Amino acid sequence: MSVLCILPIQAQEEKQTVKVGYWENYGITINEHGSFYGYGYEYIMDIADINNWNIEFVNCDWDEGLQLLKTGEIDLFGMLQKTAERELIYAYPDENFGYEYGAIYINENNKNIYFDDPISLNGKIVGTVFNNAHLPELEAYSKEYNIEFKYEYYEDSSLLQSALDQGEIDLLFAGSINDVPRAKVVLYLQREPIYYATSIQNKAILDGLNIAQNVLKEESIYYAADMQHKYYNEASISLEAFTRQEREYIEKLNQEGALKVTFHNNWKPFDSLNPKTGEYEGISVDVTSKISEISGLEFDYVVVDDNVTLSEISSNPEFDIVGGMIDSKMMQEKYQLLASDSFFETPFVFVGKRGTKYLEGTSLKVAVPENSYGAGFHIASDYPDYEVVMYKDALACLKAVAKGQVNHAVLNSYAADEHLKERQFNNLAIILSMRGKLPISLGVKSNDLLLLSILDKSIKAIDEEELKEIINVHTIGIPYKPSFSEIVQQNVILIATIIFMFGVFFVVALYLLKRDKERELNKIAYYDPLTKNINFVRFKQKCEKALADKSNPKLTMLSIDIDKFKYISDSLGYAFGDKLLILLSDEIKRNLQEDEFYARENADKFIILTKTIDRKEIERHCEEFVVRFDQLCRSLDSHIKVILSIGFYNIDIEDEKLDAIIDKAHFARKSIKNNHKSSYARFDQAMYNRINNEKEIENIMDTALESHQFEVYLQPKFSVQGQRIVGAESLARWNHPLKGVIEPSEFIPIFEKNGFITNLDYNIFEQTCIMIKHWMDRNIQPVPISVNLSRRHVSNMNMPKELYTICQKYGVSSKYLELEITESTFVEGDTNVIIELMNELHKLGFSISMDDFGTGVSSLTQLKELPIDILKLDKTFLGQDENYRERVIFINLVKMAKDMGIRTIAEGVETKEQYWILQDAGCDMVQGYLFGKPTSIEEFEAKFVTNQKHQN
Ligand code: C2E
Ligand code: CA
Ligand code: CA
Repeated sequence: MSVLCILPIQAQEEKQTVKVGYWENYGITINEHGSFYGYGYEYIMDIADINNWNIEFVNCDWDEGLQLLKTGEIDLFGMLQKTAERELIYAYPDENFGYEYGAIYINENNKNIYFDDPISLNGKIVGTVFNNAHLPELEAYSKEYNIEFKYEYYEDSSLLQSALDQGEIDLLFAGSINDVPRAKVVLYLQREPIYYATSIQNKAILDGLNIAQNVLKEESIYYAADMQHKYYNEASISLEAFTRQEREYIEKLNQEGALKVTFHNNWKPFDSLNPKTGEYEGISVDVTSKISEISGLEFDYVVVDDNVTLSEISSNPEFDIVGGMIDSKMMQEKYQLLASDSFFETPFVFVGKRGTKYLEGTSLKVAVPENSYGAGFHIASDYPDYEVVMYKDALACLKAVAKGQVNHAVLNSYAADEHLKERQFNNLAIILSMRGKLPISLGVKSNDLLLLSILDKSIKAIDEEELKEIINVHTIGIPYKPSFSEIVQQNVILIATIIFMFGVFFVVALYLLKRDKERELNKIAYYDPLTKNINFVRFKQKCEKALADKSNPKLTMLSIDIDKFKYISDSLGYAFGDKLLILLSDEIKRNLQEDEFYARENADKFIILTKTIDRKEIERHCEEFVVRFDQLCRSLDSHIKVILSIGFYNIDIEDEKLDAIIDKAHFARKSIKNNHKSSYARFDQAMYNRINNEKEIENIMDTALESHQFEVYLQPKFSVQGQRIVGAESLARWNHPLKGVIEPSEFIPIFEKNGFITNLDYNIFEQTCIMIKHWMDRNIQPVPISVNLSRRHVSNMNMPKELYTICQKYGVSSKYLELEITESTFVEGDTNVIIELMNELHKLGFSISMDDFGTGVSSLTQLKELPIDILKLDKTFLGQDENYRERVIFINLVKMAKDMGIRTIAEGVETKEQYWILQDAGCDMVQGYLFGKPTSIEEFEAKFVTNQKHQN
């Protein structure tokens, strides 16, 4: 028995370590997560797999790498071209690792150098690294075309890159393997084979390279070509700059006016007209505007009615580009339309009555929307059994199926998914996915090849991430494709037959390969590596589904975050921060029930969809959750107290947008004030409205001021004795183009808070000056006008000068202007500063009134210190009913003010009784509804100014 024990356990063969030198961004690049990728990386790793090598990557620059390889400090370096000189020092494998050509790049914004245009290259500064093996080719090129370059040499590729970015060099010369971001190619030189090489003495490595390359070649003769495609198809090496001819054409087209692009009324998600906003939207629309940005071409969008046929569009010289077209031979032959590169591929699906199968046979009809230009041709040629019947749009197609007028409808899967959610189509379902996907492009008339090439180059130049984002925006929430299981379920027999026909192995193998790829892609796209849970994108998709399912009971959205998480992870380390997030994530997961899900939205912010809706119950859950989480955190052995904030929103509005729902959960969470302990809050609609309103006002206030939406209203002031008009107060009104006149109580407090009030005050002051000037121009004797000054001005010692400058600008004497400063300003501010400010105002000739006196806590004795001219007694003094006490105080106030040489005005006078009281008290002036409400300047002039002129 003991024999067993000494048998070697299938020894893990000792791996040989191979050192590979790499020059960053040359075939091997490090992404933002710190992992390697790239053509060279994948190639080397495949070779290592076959040889069972353990690879150690060594970072070095180009010269250094060549040196290290020579001395044997590294085993492999690349990718190198063969030169007679190098072959003396290095050993090359039999097969090359692909090809490389020298290429000249320009900054993507450079418009003065053209593709394949030696003249525009002449005399330009070329940057290159030392030892660029392609240099002799470039020299040969410059000789051939009789042009000259000025060379600048750089130590490494990042310096070279920044020289191009900064404009220190016009041209960057590099091998095509190099990653050159933010650049376009203007010249390709001849291509040369390239190799990973080892040193002459290193026989074992050389053998390993040769063997592995043979294996790879046997597996697929296209190995290198596929890799080339995978890594360089999207890279800047394939982004060609415009030629001179193309640039001139762009200019010519723009001079003739914008190109007309036709979009559909309703072809979601590609292009449609939003009836609410009147804007065109969709993937094709966004792509077109991106093209405009890249090429400088100007476009005009026109919507064609769904019943305008393609032949009308293609033969009409008014239209230049067909937005959103699906290419086919018919398109070229019948309509003389050429398709640009496609920017999106859409799956098409067959929709039929639920429970029916995809039918084959004669006299079957499929409905195809007229507006999916070109899809019909594909169906006609790929499914010859069917008679294609055109309907107006997707909706009409589905109705035709429901009514039994056709057997199936063929729609793009996004449109199908969207419409099938509607109740009226309850008994319809996707029954088959069409073979392959159809590419969406822009259509160009076939005599306009130059425009086609401009569009192609521009589409290629759209950043991949940006394109993904565009597609996401218009398709998210709409499942990417019909669920495989749904199709399988309904088509078992059919699928089995197809599989049989096409050869079982072939299909299965292809399917598995594709599925793995898709899974991998899905994993990246929908997965949060830290919490090992779905990510926010996936979360939103799942929510959309759950919300659309009307059989669902009501749901609740919760938002959780950790207070001062950034501080915690900064001070205790990111590893600790990560631990905390994982702990929180796991604890959330543990508390979920079936069909509930969550995701980490970003950093420490988690979002959860639950089925619990009862407020009490949710609050109890929250309570328990924070207690439990606190205990867990203690076990992490840190001294930090972790505080959670949780907000929740009971989703109760039907068809509310998901983003709004999430936003409300966050809002509820943020409504929790820092109270140093974990807590939770329910969404408060009133508070939400208030804050949204505030935000909205803040968003538009600048434009409102610029576009003169704030107007001056005037309220007259009368002398108590003679009942003569003696002045007026300027009051702001916001005349909003949509909302009409907005009262100050809605915006002044917000402006006070954010400081914008000072801008408004200056504006009202200036408008008031303009008005007075206008009166003087018309020989009207002005009355003094008072303007309100917010407390926010008090800190600005230049304010008096600035006001004075405005007066001077219009030639208006400052004696016509009075400044109202509210009582509380004096109480809150530094009295000395305020007095200095007031003295300054006085010096410049303005008079000052203390507004709203009586609402604050200042006393008359304090008034003595303040250089004010007028006391404005607040409307609360006069009260509604006859309050004897108030009246006594009022009378005394007026009297004492008089003793101090201060004039008095009572505001908010609404009744004759009130007027009699202040007449008795000896008050100087009155302002109030009894005498006149605030009115527009015109109305004020009509009522008071002209009268006064008569009187004079
Ligand atoms: P305020 O300075 O005390 O202005 C007087 C307010 O009382 C005005 O309200 C006026 O319409 C109102 N009022 C006048 N007579 C009567 C009356 O007999 N009965 C009643 N119940 N109210 C009367 P408005 O125009 O809504 O202005 C409200 C406040 O907004 C102003 O109170 C002022 O504090 C502020 N405000 C208005 N325009 C400006 C401005 O341009 N700058 C600054 N800083 N504040 C302004
Ligand atoms: Ca006032
Ligand atoms: Ca007032």
